[in-house]
Amino acid sequence: MLKDKTTVLKFGGSSVANADCIKQVCEIAVRESENANLVIVVSAMGKATDSLVKLAKEFNPLPEGRELDMLLSTGEQVTVSLVAMCLHQMGFKAISLVASQAGFITERAHNRARIAQIKTDRIEKHLNLGEIVIVAGFQGITEDGEITTLGRGGSDTSAVAIAAALKAERCDIYTDVDGVYTTDPRIIPEARRLDLISYEEMLELASLGAKVLHPRSVELAKKYNINLRVRSTFKPDDLGTRVVKLSEVRNMELTQAVTGVAIDDKQAKLGFMGVPDKPGIACKIFDRLAKENVSIDVILQSIPRDGVIDIAFTVQQDYLQKAVRIAEELALEVGADKIVFDENIAKVSIVGAGMLNKPGIAAEMFSSLYNAGINIQMITTSEIKISCIIKIEESHKAVKAIHDQFNLAYSKEEIIV
Ligand code: ADP
Ligand code: ASP
Ligand code: MG
Repeated sequence: MLKDKTTVLKFGGSSVANADCIKQVCEIAVRESENANLVIVVSAMGKATDSLVKLAKEFNPLPEGRELDMLLSTGEQVTVSLVAMCLHQMGFKAISLVASQAGFITERAHNRARIAQIKTDRIEKHLNLGEIVIVAGFQGITEDGEITTLGRGGSDTSAVAIAAALKAERCDIYTDVDGVYTTDPRIIPEARRLDLISYEEMLELASLGAKVLHPRSVELAKKYNINLRVRSTFKPDDLGTRVVKLSEVRNMELTQAVTGVAIDDKQAKLGFMGVPDKPGIACKIFDRLAKENVSIDVILQSIPRDGVIDIAFTVQQDYLQKAVRIAEELALEVGADKIVFDENIAKVSIVGAGMLNKPGIAAEMFSSLYNAGINIQMITTSEIKISCIIKIEESHKAVKAIHDQFNLAYSKEEIIV
């Protein structure tokens, strides 16, 4: 390599939404390229991917995965070429690569492919020529040449994967907010920016709906110990939030029980009502759903009454149609009275490594919801998170109530003072 370190920068949709934004991205890139070999990963411009999904649905409400990937991957191809043209105009050597050219090999699982390997020779060849390499995020190619995509928001994962493959010294995720906050700052303006967050907590927040980072990118960053930052394209001098090992956060800050609140409004609830209370029913339902690739999240089973029970669970809204079809077939087999479903739900969750072994956190969360007049429909907990399913209309009110309850607008030091 020409320089002794390599840096990966990723720019999301709003960071490349128009020509001015792309010029700003190139300014940042040029500055970074003075000190390191530079790889830039970009997303589709603005809401281009949403528009492509909408376009596909004008032809087919459930497009085949392969064809959808053919279409969606074009979004990122537009951006890489424009960034390269802009850098050329500024007098810099740069080359754009789509994922097949950049060696992003994935499994063949359309619309949600995982990266198997990155064959870095081509990227390294260009870096050795002193070129800035611009890679299309979100996409890959199977060993047999089929185009895949990694799932919505997947460009973050492309960036971290390439950082791992190239042993980059840093992977900066540039976006439209200046870091990771205690909750979505667009919903709760008093949310506080975190200087540091652990991989573990970030992974939970991302998996629970905080879309600032794609969950798989955090998983990869943790696995490969990637020096990961979230920062703003529009405040390039601000260092944003660093995602680090838990021990680093613990040493540097007094830990609060709750670190952040996430909200996922893309959930739906489905219930089997009046199922006979006998062994094997849950197994039959969830086995079939798993075989048809429907992921289940929160599950609730009622106490038996008159020999029957109700089993309810949540799925991602995108899978509701499919899940209802399967449930209706299963209802006959398991002898359910009826199937009910509801899309007007949201999942609000608290996350915090500091809640481990600290009793009373769940009670505090529930009481904040009760005091705000919000009914909890389902609850699920794990070591460092607690989630509640509530009505979608009440989700913002719920996040505000929980955020206030745990004083998240203030750091621990401020609370002590
Ligand atoms: P990009 O297009 O750059 O990938 P995304 O829209 O995917 O950006 O992610 C950034 C958005 O994530 C922010 O605009 C913000 O609304 C949202 N967000 C949700 N939770 C958080 C959080 N805890 N901290 C910061 N941003 C958050
Ligand atoms: N363009 C893709 C999407 O909108 C990937 C990404 O932005 O990360 O989901
Ligand atoms: Mg994103």
